[in-house]
Parts: sequence; structure tokens; C-alpha cells
Amino acid sequence: MTIEDVLAWVRPHVLALKPYSSARDEFSGVADVYLDANENSLGAVAHAADWHRYPDPHASAIKHIIAALKGVKPAQIFVGNGSDEAIDLLYRVFCAPGQASALLMPPTYGMYGVSAAINAIETVQVPLNQQFQIDRPALQKVLEQRHDLRLVFVCSPNNPTGNLLDKADITWLLDHFNGIVVVDEAYIDFCPEASWVPVLNQYPNLVVVQTLSKAWGLASLRMGLAYAHEQVIALLNKVKPPYNLSGPAQEAALLSLSQAQEKDHKVAEILTLRQQLLTALRSVPCIEHIYSTDANFVLVRLKATWNATQVYQDLTKAGIVVRDRSSQVGCENCLRITVGTAAENQKLLAALLSVE
Ligand SMILES: *Cc1c(COP(=O)(O)O)cnc(C)c1O
Repeated sequence: MTIEDVLAWVRPHVLALKPYSSARDEFSGVADVYLDANENSLGAVAHAADWHRYPDPHASAIKHIIAALKGVKPAQIFVGNGSDEAIDLLYRVFCAPGQASALLMPPTYGMYGVSAAINAIETVQVPLNQQFQIDRPALQKVLEQRHDLRLVFVCSPNNPTGNLLDKADITWLLDHFNGIVVVDEAYIDFCPEASWVPVLNQYPNLVVVQTLSKAWGLASLRMGLAYAHEQVIALLNKVKPPYNLSGPAQEAALLSLSQAQEKDHKVAEILTLRQQLLTALRSVPCIEHIYSTDANFVLVRLKATWNATQVYQDLTKAGIVVRDRSSQVGCENCLRITVGTAAENQKLLAALLSVE
């Protein structure tokens, strides 16, 4: 597959689009007096450094740091207002309603389906198998029948199941899927050796999505990343709102990204807490199965004599909120539990031991 093959899937109006040219695009140097963007020359109401100025539309400083951290070129990075923005833009660039569709493998992250629905794009579901791995025979069959599939979402580690998807299956998809393979690595900092970013240059149809919301502890900033061939990234940039990242968010991201070792410490601590939590969960009577996890959460299935939705409600009465995933295909009677602090995990365990 070549980048020309990939560009042939782009919606024609997107290829032809002339993007908005912002004031900061037309003059990007340094000046004494800025009277080009109708900003408030007297400053911000709540005075803070340069809140009255429009932010960098290209998030250049952020891309510079991430490029060094990840070993890619800044032009291979898209920075979005959360990963959700990258997911939405991929639909808008590659999928025309009524013409292209997307392949989802439930149980998985809900936004892939919601974003498809918002964009009026049909989805085809090929559920993961019993081991929560890609069902290759079912997948092959669907790919033979459906030639309109242009996006496939692969979540690894997968939410809500927690496991990494097999490398061989993702490689197979990259080699055989006639569309974009989106690998969502929201939880990759908890198993960094499994990232697909290092092979980006081998696959023009690969898009890797990451986020600062989990390991970096910056869910409130709304900062998501996509890595791909630079011509694919250029298309996402063309379609995004010009100032999609606020100035304060960019500043906070820069400050955080310059302290990657802090993130590594937190990840190490969460992995220790996860191990302790998994050990303790083994002696909880209502739990039948603890799924293996490569992320900062764990999926557990309750015994048939307990009802996950009822247990979920009992936990909320004790002031503890977990995620009831029992309505998802393959997750019957399952709860998804985020690894908490040592004290939070203790409270959870005490509450789980007392559910009836
Ligand atoms: C949490 C999560 C994200 C993060 O989304 P943001 O919009 O970046 O906060 C993305 N994908 C998956 C699978 C997630 O679980």
C-alpha cells in the first residue's frame, strides 16, 4: 500500500478544501504591536499573561516536545481537543455518508460508534472473540463482503476489557484492510513496549491515537494526539477548527510534557497499586473472573448469584462509583474498575466484601 492509495480514499471536497487562514497564519513572526486579530488590546478580564491573545493554531511547541519523546517528525503529529476530536476528524476526512462505513469490534470504546452516528456513517460490528481478541475468520468474511469499509478502530489495550490485542492480527489488518487502521493507544503508557508508533513509517494506512487524559493525568486539559503519515496529518489539520487548543491548555501540556519522568513515576505507582488490587480482588466472594489487564483498570465478571447492576448500585450507595459494563456484548455481568489510590482501593474492597 502507498500513500497514493490512502489519498484515494479521502473525500473529494476535503482534498479540494482551502482551509481557513487565521491571523496567526498570515503573520507568524514577532512584532511590537498586534492589531490584526481584533483581540482586546487592554488585556483579559481576569488578568493572566496573554489570555487576550489567540493561541498557536498549530501547537508547534507541543509537537516539538512530543516528536522528541516519540521519535517521529512534528509533521507526523496531530494535536486535538481530546482524542475524540481526532476520531471525529478521521470520519469527516475518510467517510462520506451512504458511501463509506466503519468497522468496530465490540466490546470497545463507545465514542467510535457515537462519532460514526454523528457523522451519519454506518458501522459494521465484528465482536471480539471469547478471549477478547480479533475474530480473524469473522473479520475476513466481512472484508470479503463489504468493500465500503474505510475505517477500522482497534483499541489496544482495549477499553473496557483491559487487554492488548495480538500484534499478528493488527499486522494482518494493516496488510489486508483496504482502509485506515486506527489503533487507539489511550492506555499505552501502562505497556509502552506495545506501541505501534515505531512502525508508523512502514504503513501509510496506520493512524495511532493517544491521549494525555490517562497516564499523564490531564483529562481536564482535553488533549489528544494522532500520529500518521504527514499527508494524512495535513488533512486532519485542514479540517480542524483553527484554534482547537486553548492557550492555557497548551501551556499546561507543555509544562507537563517537560516532566515525563513524573508521568513515569505515576505509571510505576499505578502498576504497583494495580497488582495489589488484583491480588485482593481474588478473595472477593462475588467475583467469578478477573480479566487480565495491561491498563489502569480491570474488568471483573461477577458470579451468577450476583447482579452487576445491583452491585454497581450498592457501591454507589457506599459512595464508590465504578462502571457497569454489563450491557456490552461479551461483558455480561461485568464491572470495570479503575485503579485508585491505596485508600480508595481499600474502600472499594471493603464495600465489595459486604455486597449481598
Ligand atoms: C479514555 C479514552 C480515550 C481518551 O479520550 P480523550 O478524549 O483524549 O480524553 C480515548 N480512547 C479510549 C479507548 C479511552 O478509554
